[in-house]
Amino acid sequence: MTNQSNAIKFYSGEQIPVEQHKVRIVQKLFLRPIEERKAAMEGAGFNTFLLNTKDVFLDMLTDSGTNAMSDNQISSMLQADDAYAGSQSFYRMEEAAREVFGKHYVLPVHQGRAAENIVSQAFIKQGDVIPMNYHFTTTKEHMELNGGKVLEIYADDALDIKSSKKFKGNIDIAKLNAVFEKYGKEKVAFVRMEASTNLIGGQPFSMQNMRDVRAVCDKNDTMMVLDASLIGENAWFIKQREDEFKNAEIKDILLEMCGYADLVYFSSRKVSSTRGGGILTDKNEYYLKMRDLLVLYEGFLTYGGMSVREIEAMAVGLRETCDDTVINQSPSFIKYAVDNLDEAGVPVITPAGALGCHVDAMGFLKHVPQEQYPAGALAAALYIVSGIRGMERGTISSVRDENGKDILADVELLRLAFPRRVFTLSQTMYVIDRVKWLYDNRELIGGLQWVEEPPMLRFFMGRLEPIGDWTEKLVAKFRADFGDSL
Ligand SMILES: *Cc1c(COP(=O)(O)O)cnc(C)c1O
Repeated sequence: MTNQSNAIKFYSGEQIPVEQHKVRIVQKLFLRPIEERKAAMEGAGFNTFLLNTKDVFLDMLTDSGTNAMSDNQISSMLQADDAYAGSQSFYRMEEAAREVFGKHYVLPVHQGRAAENIVSQAFIKQGDVIPMNYHFTTTKEHMELNGGKVLEIYADDALDIKSSKKFKGNIDIAKLNAVFEKYGKEKVAFVRMEASTNLIGGQPFSMQNMRDVRAVCDKNDTMMVLDASLIGENAWFIKQREDEFKNAEIKDILLEMCGYADLVYFSSRKVSSTRGGGILTDKNEYYLKMRDLLVLYEGFLTYGGMSVREIEAMAVGLRETCDDTVINQSPSFIKYAVDNLDEAGVPVITPAGALGCHVDAMGFLKHVPQEQYPAGALAAALYIVSGIRGMERGTISSVRDENGKDILADVELLRLAFPRRVFTLSQTMYVIDRVKWLYDNRELIGGLQWVEEPPMLRFFMGRLEPIGDWTEKLVAKFRADFGDSL
C-alpha cells in the first residue's frame, strides 16, 4: 500500500497532508459576525453542547456521528432490508464485523454507551474494580451505576502535555499487577483497554502493551475488554510508531489487537463513520450473559436499536476502516494542526493523537484557576472569536465528591475534533490562525461559574456564565484587530 497521503512528498519540502478523496456532496456553512456569536454563546449557557449548528462555522465538537460517509456507504443504505427479526442487513453487517474484528458473536446496539450499559450489567458486581488505561465519561458512569470502581493505571508520564512518548495510552504493567495483588482476582471484573485513549488526547497503546496486559489477564484468569471505538486510528499509530508493524496491513493489525481481547465493543458513531455500535466475543458463555439484556434495552438481536439503513452503512464502513487512506486522514490533519500550534508556542498535547487537536487550557490560561473551569472558558472564547465549536474536556466534564467539592480533572483540555474527511486544509489553517490569535490575547479571557448544574453528566446540559466582563473585552479586541472581518 503506497497510496497514503503521508507518503506524498512536496517539491517544496513542506509537509502537507493531501486528501485522498474528492468532495461530491457538500453542506453550506454559516459564519456569523462576532457579536452574534457572543449572543449565541450566552444563549447556550457557555456550554458548546447547547449551541445550534446554524450558529456554528466549523463544528469540531466531536467525531461522534459526524465523520463523512463514503459513496459506497450511502448507496448501501438503499438496499436496507426492513424486518424486525432476521433482517438481511444485519447478516451483512455481522459478516463484515466478523471479518474486521475476527470474533464470532456480534451483538448490535444503538451506540457505544449502550454497549457499556450491557457489558457493565453483565460483568460487574457491587464492590468490583475495573483497571484500565483511562476512563471515558459514559464508561465510568455505567460502571459506577453497577457498583464498580474505575482504576486508572496509566504510566506516570502519560499525562505530560509535551511529550515524545509514542504510546501514552499504555497500561502500566507493574500497576496492573499491583491491582491484582491488592484486590485479588475475584474483585477484578475485567481489565479494560481503550484504543486511542479519548480523554487523554487520543493517545494510542502499543501492540506490545496489549500482549503484556493479556499475559497478566491469563495469569489471573481475568477477562480483557477492548473499547474499540477509535481502534482504526490506534492501529494506524501502531503501524507508524511500532517498528514490528511498519509493513503490516491495517486489517492484520486490527485482527491481532482484537485477538487479545475476550470482548470487544465499539461506538459505530466513530469507528465506521455511521451511527450505532456493537459488542463482539468468541465465548458463548459471555454471549449468553448479554443476549437477554440486549433484547431488553436495545431491541431484537438483528437490529439492536439501529435503523437498518445505518446497519448497511456500518457494514461498508467497518471494511473501509481497514483502508489506510480512510483512517490516516484525521490523524494526518490533526498532526498538521498540532505541529503548527506547537511551533507557535501554543500549549497542545504532543505527540499528535487521534480524534482531535487537544489544547492544554491550564497552560493557555495560567491566570484562570482550575475552579473557574479554564477549558470551558477557552472553548467559549474560541467559539466567540471564530465560530469554531470545540469541547471542554476538563473539570466541567468531571464530577463533585461526596462533600460537593469539584474533583479537579487531571488535565484541562479544549478538544478540537477532526471528524474523518470533513474539513479541508484551508479550514484547518483557519483553526490554527484563530487559536494563535487567541493565544496572543489570552490575558483577556476569564473564568466561568455555574448557573444551572445537573447532578449527572453535567457537561452535557449544564449552564454557566462568565465571571466579569471578559467576553466584551474579547469582542472589542477582535474588532480592533480584524475590523469588519468575520
Ligand atoms: C464515544 C465513545 C464511547 C461512547 O459511544 P457513544 O456512541 O457516544 O455512546 C465509548 N468509548 C469511547 C472510547 C468513545 O470514544
